Amino acid sequence: MLSFLKKYKSQLYFHLLLNIIVGLCITLSDYYHIPLSGFRDYFIYFIHFLLLQFSFFGILYFLSINKYLFYATFSVLFMSLSLLGFYKYSLDISISKHLIEAIFEVSLLVSVDLISIPFIGYLLFIGVVLYFIFKQYKKIVVNQLKSPLIILAFLGIATYFSAENYRFGTFKNRLPYIAFNSVVKFFQEDNLLLLPVDDTTKSTVNDINFVFILGESVRADHIQLNGYSRETSPKLSKRKNIISYSDLYTPLTHTVASVKQLLTNQSVDDAVKSNEVYSLFSILNTVGYKTSWIGNSTIVKSYAPIILSNQNVQLIDKFRSILSFNKALDEKMLQPFDSILKTKKNQFITLHMVGSHWWYENRYSDEFRKFTPVINSKHIPSLEPQEIINSYDNTLLYLDNFIDVVINSVEKTHTKSIVMYVADHGEILGEDGKWLHAQESEASKNPAMIIWYSDEFITAYPNLVSSLKEKKDKRISADFFYHSILDLFQVQNFDYETEKSIFRSENNEPILSSESLE
Ligand SMILES: [Zn+2]
Repeated sequence: MLSFLKKYKSQLYFHLLLNIIVGLCITLSDYYHIPLSGFRDYFIYFIHFLLLQFSFFGILYFLSINKYLFYATFSVLFMSLSLLGFYKYSLDISISKHLIEAIFEVSLLVSVDLISIPFIGYLLFIGVVLYFIFKQYKKIVVNQLKSPLIILAFLGIATYFSAENYRFGTFKNRLPYIAFNSVVKFFQEDNLLLLPVDDTTKSTVNDINFVFILGESVRADHIQLNGYSRETSPKLSKRKNIISYSDLYTPLTHTVASVKQLLTNQSVDDAVKSNEVYSLFSILNTVGYKTSWIGNSTIVKSYAPIILSNQNVQLIDKFRSILSFNKALDEKMLQPFDSILKTKKNQFITLHMVGSHWWYENRYSDEFRKFTPVINSKHIPSLEPQEIINSYDNTLLYLDNFIDVVINSVEKTHTKSIVMYVADHGEILGEDGKWLHAQESEASKNPAMIIWYSDEFITAYPNLVSSLKEKKDKRISADFFYHSILDLFQVQNFDYETEKSIFRSENNEPILSSESLE
């Protein structure tokens, strides 16, 4: 054993050193902002980190077998990944396609303060470290291809696959691997094709302001307006002209699938998901509505073209995804919303919230911490179920206030207006021992849905409001959204299913407003 260690000392020393440096500069940055509490949490995440680093050791080992390969690839890898590590440590920025885009465009980096004095200092430091690594590399005196350490390298690579097999994204969504995925995504073409809308398509209703609040992970049965025992909607409960729907249904419990379905002609029942769809916004643009999208939630590839079919797109805090622990609060959208709303009539404005997406404590400000004690760690098994539910319910209090503020602004315009809130899916809160969403559970298939209409709207369209009230506790498929909007605006020369519209009464009577009767 001793003679073995002696023989391979130079090689062992180099790989140990290399992995400590890479671990500190790159891998560890992805764990740095995770809120944890207690020895057990830290221990579990430390093991997680060690295993991830061990898997990356496997890759580094094979790169280091050939001298030229190592010099060329490692210098590029180390410089660029350390740069991402720096953003992760200092700003908790998410490594995504958007960040890669920004890195390719230096002016964008400057504009979001990603290039700073400490950053340049850090780059110089990384350069020195790289020089040091290469110096140590030259000291390896054994043939790495024939060294028994190669077995360990194979094991490292196998660790990656077994972790991904255990739970998809375990390693893949963390540094360094996420950097490779983001680069691949950056170069991949969006494969969603939006169908063009014929010019002859028109609308006969063109004086409504529609504000659509697209929510995240909010389940209907935790809304006070639907009979939940806790006061989670104190502000909306005091309002008139409010309807909360208790039985909206979607089988799609994953954001990428549910958002795409809501905003297009795709049905929740479509077994084969088509990549050729009509964007609701393309149709609204054609018929003369002014479409605006204000989003705090990250845009993902599967629905990016739909969002970009809005005439005006504003993304808040675009370099931090929902996974960042420093993500901006949804109220950051209110100021741009107010300035857009001022242009008054004929608008369709979407506010895309981060809403009640895990980690709940990052989703609301202190004044809404009413239900206590709350969670203090990200590691679910070490949390009390009631603490998780308390934190979740606090996010709903924040939502109650958010919707209330939006309604306040819309009310002041004195126009025929609707504010419609729809969550993309629900959330699992301990049912069958499961939490969060995007896994099979009925608990996440009943999202919240709330509608407010202005006095001006009910005066002009009393029949529509009665239809809306009729549906309060009826089962509504998430298909309703697309078809209801087209029906509300009386879109002509374009196919849609009026029987799915919530603005129709049970027997699908055509809409007759008091105005059209005159
Ligand atoms: Zn979602």
